[in-house]
Amino acid sequence: MLAALGAAAPARATPILQVHLQIEPATHTFTCRYRFTLPASDTTSVVRLNLSSRFKLQPVLAPRAEQARAVPVVYAGDSLQQIQVRYAPNPRQSRYIELVYAGSISETNYTNHVAFLSGHSNWLPFRPLQEYEVLPYQLVVRVPPGYQVRSTSPPSQQKAGRWTFRGTTSAIELTAFVAKQFYPVVAATGPAITLLKTGSPPARPDSVMLRQAEAVAAFYNRTIGRLDSIARFTVFLPGTNSEAYGLLDNATVITYDDFDVAKTEDLLVMAHEISHKWWAYGSFHDETDWLNEAFATYSSLLYLQASGDEASYQKELSRLAQTTPGTPPLWGFDRYAHEYPMHRRVIYNKGTGILHALRTRIGTEQFVALLAQSAAQKTSTTTDFLQLVKQIAGPETSAWLLAELKR
Ligand SMILES: [Zn+2]
Repeated sequence: MLAALGAAAPARATPILQVHLQIEPATHTFTCRYRFTLPASDTTSVVRLNLSSRFKLQPVLAPRAEQARAVPVVYAGDSLQQIQVRYAPNPRQSRYIELVYAGSISETNYTNHVAFLSGHSNWLPFRPLQEYEVLPYQLVVRVPPGYQVRSTSPPSQQKAGRWTFRGTTSAIELTAFVAKQFYPVVAATGPAITLLKTGSPPARPDSVMLRQAEAVAAFYNRTIGRLDSIARFTVFLPGTNSEAYGLLDNATVITYDDFDVAKTEDLLVMAHEISHKWWAYGSFHDETDWLNEAFATYSSLLYLQASGDEASYQKELSRLAQTTPGTPPLWGFDRYAHEYPMHRRVIYNKGTGILHALRTRIGTEQFVALLAQSAAQKTSTTTDFLQLVKQIAGPETSAWLLAELKR
């Protein structure tokens, strides 16, 4: 019966994204026609969309708007262009805003074998402070002859040079990988896990990595993800050597070409990123980011311990704990008032220590039940998480946790 709880949220009319993307891999350039449609039930009278100022934007198309303009803004320390569209009050009908822009794919997003646009490519517009609002989309990708396209889900349609993907994900996480040849490494049993390589055919380290990804997914499906389990998952391996990040839609991008899950550090990165399938509903901008990052970090540690490596688990916990004395409270932490390393210490490291203390207090069984329920209901605020702790572990534990968060 528990499994039904996560589906109980009422349907809500959200904006819809329709994105037509043309990628030219040879020149690492793209053009994008982006249409943001508000449903008739949405009465917003001013719509703002932030877009990287690196892109050349054509005149904004916004039928029924009183005014549409693009102005430069500074947002989270970056210079952006903001499209501002103003409507008369109570529009009571569906409205769309269409942006056409062209740009270059940044050098951390291509090699000789692949070019891509994804969650950290800053290629899509978004509403201020709502990069991660979850929206239904249709993504059409056109590529020159001889190229193929992959995304986080299989295409719903495919014709020569034109690939259509549909899904629901964070506003900035629509994903297109383009290559002449992909080398998928696919799990033979269990959840459909695919490693997607380009450049060279699969080798032994890839099958080792696939087995670890299978083990991580299977562990999560038994524990934190048991009410909302992974049925398919894609690990993109573009080899651009810049970063690793998780995507909401059952995928992760790991760009290091020397990535080796035989190393504890890399295994933890992979397990962290896979767990972002569940830990993605806190805000990037405030302390609820601990619901993403501390939860993902502690999930990776749970896996490490369950894999039998108690020594590395303890070592990693104490390494993180050493970075937290003297840091400000997690509750109300303002990332923009601090340098990034303090954000890591408070949101990732201190948050992980608090989760460990919570587990120690209530026991593993109840702790895993709590995480599974939180994942299934897509908890997005600390207050909602405290409420869940109260339901599952009782009011004293909820009060204790609040005190820990304020410490
Ligand atoms: Zn993370």
